[in-house]
Amino acid sequence: MYLCRMSYHNTIEFARSMDVEDPLREYRSKFHMPQFNGEDVLYFTGNSLGLQPKSTKAAIEQELDDWARLGVEGHFHAKNPWMPYHEFLTEKTAKLVGAKPIEVVCMNQLTVNVHLLMVSFYRPRGLRYKIICEQKAFPSDQYALESQVKFHGYDPEEAIVEVGPRAGEHTIRHEDILAAIEKHKDELALVFIGGVNYYTGQVFDLAEITAAAHKAGAYAGFDLAHAAGNVILQLHDWNVDFACWCSYKYLNSGPGSVSGAFVHERHAHSELIRFAGWWGHDKVTRFKMEKGFRPVPGAEGWQLSNAPVFSMAAHNAALEIFDEVGMEKLRAKTMKLSGYLEFIIDDVSSRKGNCLEIITPREWKQRGCQLSVVAHGYGRDLFNALMQNGVIPDWREPNVIRLAPVPLYNSFEDIWRFGQKLEEAM
Ligand SMILES: *Cc1c(COP(=O)(O)O)cnc(C)c1O
Repeated sequence: MYLCRMSYHNTIEFARSMDVEDPLREYRSKFHMPQFNGEDVLYFTGNSLGLQPKSTKAAIEQELDDWARLGVEGHFHAKNPWMPYHEFLTEKTAKLVGAKPIEVVCMNQLTVNVHLLMVSFYRPRGLRYKIICEQKAFPSDQYALESQVKFHGYDPEEAIVEVGPRAGEHTIRHEDILAAIEKHKDELALVFIGGVNYYTGQVFDLAEITAAAHKAGAYAGFDLAHAAGNVILQLHDWNVDFACWCSYKYLNSGPGSVSGAFVHERHAHSELIRFAGWWGHDKVTRFKMEKGFRPVPGAEGWQLSNAPVFSMAAHNAALEIFDEVGMEKLRAKTMKLSGYLEFIIDDVSSRKGNCLEIITPREWKQRGCQLSVVAHGYGRDLFNALMQNGVIPDWREPNVIRLAPVPLYNSFEDIWRFGQKLEEAM
């Protein structure tokens, strides 16, 4: 399915030949590429803010025009009526994360959804109050967990069990996560992990983690901010209880755009406690404006507010691209493209005293687009030199470079050029 690592070459001819053979090569022209000195910048931060599809502007303008033309009547008579607007995204979202339509909804923003879903799925009782999460989770997730625990009157120090890498290692061993679940099984309420760690790019085995959590009598939920649009997800088949993700990283839906949420079908008709709002209420009686909350079955029943139409228009435009391509093809290109980046980094490193250490797992199963690289002996100067030379990587103190070649718009030539600039900068 992917190219053997040995057959890569650090030449522009090779990179260009890979681009010619790339079945997704035309998709680059569907995005606005930021410019540097009149040339395309080398953009490797699609894991932070994905680029703008050229179709986004027209999608937002449609809603602006309908608002200008119709005012409040746009809720019913806009080209895409605003009343059921979130429903236009449902099928595509379900396909993206391997879910049934009843299991997904786009609403709010990511950290908001983490909290809303934890209200339902973190219900500590007596001795069953612990949460297992990964060490160095994204800070917003850490704060969400800590404040949820406190909200229920427990001590975060006791309630939150972090599983980290072993001494001298960078990534977390799968067996250590399973062992932690087993160890705390009598006190465990929830396992909540980032599906792909934002820092190392490590991909976790969500199916096995979910199975282990369930065996322990706990729920399993995932923050998929770095997974959605990056790796193949089968949330329904994996039996995941809940998940949420943002749309502005790999999903290219614009800064702060609307988040996605998943609640497994088996909870669709459940009486799970939730914080409710009118948009989660039964659609038939919503406008009777009566007392007594009756949730829409499925993920939609967790909505609070009416749809943020402009950010959903941007998200919908981006989802159309994902729908057209499909995650299988994206994944197939990722393996070749990130594999080439790995090859180039190793090649440059071999001429610089092996000072570049890729801390992202080398096995395909455990990674998506992103490679995180420690530049031993280098500091922020290296990052600055790259930035001044038309590269946009992501830098984390003290010396980690995160690079995410994105299969929709990055090319093999981008990676070859990056290798040249990296070697120069070093
Ligand atoms: C990007 C990211 C967030 C950001 O949260 P917002 O609510 O969208 O600002 C949260 N968690 C993870 C794991 C992320 O990668």
